[in-house]
Amino acid sequence: MTALFGFELKATDGAARTGVISTPRGEVRTPAFMPVGTAATVKAMMPESVRDTGADILLGNTYHLMLRPTAERIDRLGGLHRFMNWERPILTDSGGFQVMSLAGLRKLTEEGVTFKSHIDGSKHALTPERSMEIQRLLGSDIVMCFDECPALPATDEEVARAMRLSMRWAARSKEAFGDRPGHALFGIMQGGVNQELREESAQALKEIGFDGYAIGGLAVGEGQEAMFGVLDYAPGYLPQDKPRYLMGVGKPDDIVGAVKRGVDMMDCVLPSRSGRTGQVFTRHGQLNIKNARHQDDPRPLDEDCTCPACRNYSRAYLHHVFRSQEIISSMLLTWHNLHYYQQIMDGMRQAIAEGRFAEWETAFHKGREAGDIERL
Ligand SMILES: [Zn+2]
Repeated sequence: MTALFGFELKATDGAARTGVISTPRGEVRTPAFMPVGTAATVKAMMPESVRDTGADILLGNTYHLMLRPTAERIDRLGGLHRFMNWERPILTDSGGFQVMSLAGLRKLTEEGVTFKSHIDGSKHALTPERSMEIQRLLGSDIVMCFDECPALPATDEEVARAMRLSMRWAARSKEAFGDRPGHALFGIMQGGVNQELREESAQALKEIGFDGYAIGGLAVGEGQEAMFGVLDYAPGYLPQDKPRYLMGVGKPDDIVGAVKRGVDMMDCVLPSRSGRTGQVFTRHGQLNIKNARHQDDPRPLDEDCTCPACRNYSRAYLHHVFRSQEIISSMLLTWHNLHYYQQIMDGMRQAIAEGRFAEWETAFHKGREAGDIERL
């Protein structure tokens, strides 16, 4: 019998948690950061390189894949894991968020959303049932409920309407998902920055019952203080014994603050997208490789980093290939950023397991506040 989906909480330190999600495709150590593989690739990275950074799981985007190359084609070609050569777990989003942020001419009804593709203007529909079908065709290990995430700022009435619609869609998602051993379905809490709505949403999701619970509707422009304000109470409304996933977060200090407040999983395009624009995250904060201060600098980005960009290349080289728009620039900087993010996760997992998260967090902030090394 193949292993089923499960979650084991191994240790807690304050609200912070560490554990293991088990799936038939392997284990995911939590807290986990999921690199984003939008169009069946983490841009500028080979899948084996993504694995080498320490990633246990990737995120794939339903919206992009349904439009191109289509879920049906990926299914015919053996599913998303085989198609993109990533045999480990994959989480797919429901498509809802990206329809709202990318597609044209959207029309929202009780049934679902119709929209025009941002690629060729063709018409498509997404409903809870269609989203479940697409994520099944992709072969996703962790499937997300179809929801509506309103852009902030929004009135309480608008946030409440979207949240209650999302809860009705969550029930339809569960019904359409059916019984699929080894695959998980996560519900998504909505409610903006309104505590009562968050509690109502969590209650509705728990009554339906899911394998894990996401906190949606954050990192949409509310700012870190407001986000942490919600995270001070929202994880506590969710079951202790299921994974909690904060969607679309974030910068290194967002991630650390979220884990401190009880979040187990996160995803964000930031480390990979920043790698392509020359923004580098290190233990000493952020730097821009385009800056002229790096052009004669023979030192690595971070002398203690073990990624290939830091082991084998100087800042001067990375500056040169970025300025020359060479493809290796995106490859090396993305690798470094993803590696750094996974180092943060690894550091937090160990610190939580050993009951020294507060100490680890202090050192993390101190290092980043110190800023980049002195110019030569
Ligand atoms: Zn590095």
